[in-house]
Amino acid sequence: MEAHELHVLMVSLPYQGHINPMLRLANLLITSGIHVTMATTEVARHRLSSRNITSTTGNPNPPENPNQELLEFEFFADGLNADEDRDKNLGVLLEEYLPTKGAGNLSDLISDFGKKGRGFSCMIVNCFVPWAVDVAAAHGIPCAMLWVQACALYAIYYRYHKGMGEFPSLDDASNSVELPGLPLLKVQDLPTFLLPSGPPHFKNVVAACIHSLDKIRWVLGSSFHKLEEDVVKSMSHLKPIHPIGPLVPPILLGKLDRISGAGDFWDSEDSCIEWLSTQRPSSVLYISLGSISVLSESETKAVAAALETTKAAFLWVVKKREDGWGRRSGELPEGFLERTKDRGRVVRWCPQDRVLMSGAVGCFLTHCGWNSTLETVAAGVPVIAFPDWTDQPTNAKLLVDVFGMGVRMRRGMDGRLSEEEVERCIFEVTEGPMAMAMKKKAVEWKEAAMKASACGGSSDLVTANFIGEISAINKI
Ligand code: UDP
Repeated sequence: MEAHELHVLMVSLPYQGHINPMLRLANLLITSGIHVTMATTEVARHRLSSRNITSTTGNPNPPENPNQELLEFEFFADGLNADEDRDKNLGVLLEEYLPTKGAGNLSDLISDFGKKGRGFSCMIVNCFVPWAVDVAAAHGIPCAMLWVQACALYAIYYRYHKGMGEFPSLDDASNSVELPGLPLLKVQDLPTFLLPSGPPHFKNVVAACIHSLDKIRWVLGSSFHKLEEDVVKSMSHLKPIHPIGPLVPPILLGKLDRISGAGDFWDSEDSCIEWLSTQRPSSVLYISLGSISVLSESETKAVAAALETTKAAFLWVVKKREDGWGRRSGELPEGFLERTKDRGRVVRWCPQDRVLMSGAVGCFLTHCGWNSTLETVAAGVPVIAFPDWTDQPTNAKLLVDVFGMGVRMRRGMDGRLSEEEVERCIFEVTEGPMAMAMKKKAVEWKEAAMKASACGGSSDLVTANFIGEISAINKI
């Protein structure tokens, strides 16, 4: 079967950090002429349908870019009533409703496509919807999983849930674990989903994902070979993971974005790009904690105070409560905006890819979400790593100790972030004795990311092989 005859169904939870890498993979497939349907739950509909996307279930804005016709969105009900609070009910949603009712609704969606003569050649499921693997099997559709976190996390979870690694008691923070292809990891470097303090539902979903791997033909990773070479190799005799990324916005890799903005939940304040163009090269500190995490009241005060003391130029994303997932950001100190208006901007949401590649940003204070991590790698921008939860502590460890492109910002013994700690980190990354070395490493990773994605690069070859295999299977 030729690529343009293939139709891939992608399935993801409705989170910005999950949908972004799925759509960047969609962009790679669309570039080869493959038709992609992105299915997620109804809660994302109102966020996405207010934007410029094409959808068979209501197309409010016809696409300006004809390539977007190769992408369509579908929404299925997750099983909870529309007015129920999904944050409060996350455990039952993930463990009970989605695997039963959500799976049934996804199955109906596939059947409806079938009735219209539009069968799927392959399903690509996000690693947080393991139940979708069974839906694929029930319909006889070959299934791939997109692992949207670091390959390091894949290896950690795999070894933990298969009972393979020598994991110590995770109750004791002073313990550490040595796993093939990874640096020595202290308990605090492990994903919070493994820790006893983490809510059980996330741990269970990841366990279900690992146990579903036997039914999966391909595991694709949002990473690139050189970045995680040792850990990728360490999985090759188990269930190999094939890095197909970095799945970052294509403009960071000098490529065409055929579906630009299609999965964005929020409008970005693009005026900050104009402002960045007036700033000196590498002079601005960019601060963002992704789509879910926020700084607490006291952390916001510490960062704001450090920005005032150091007089650093900054671009700071402070989300409004209604933009996130119910977590409240700390309030900026009284008069802060006025006092810093000559050298700083605060926005609700920005085009992070364009910010990072603006040339004006010299450092990224990040929560180390995997998308932000890959984006700063692809842009060659050093970081101040301030992880919050899930895979972020492990990503912070990678950024600082393995990729060598940043410093870790830590809370004190009292559990609070101090102004002095923020100042120390700003100094270390911008002027300290290691600042040049960090920048050099960041630029080397940027070049490696570009090389992996270029024609004939490691990720380009994985993409070509993957498409070749789907074509071959659908010929039979
Ligand atoms: N992002 C953005 N504008 C912002 C903040 C974040 O476009 O102002 C994007 C960022 O580029 C990344 C995603 O939101 O692709 C956040 O994903 P990540 O995995 O870093 O964190 P999460 O939101 O999942 O915690």
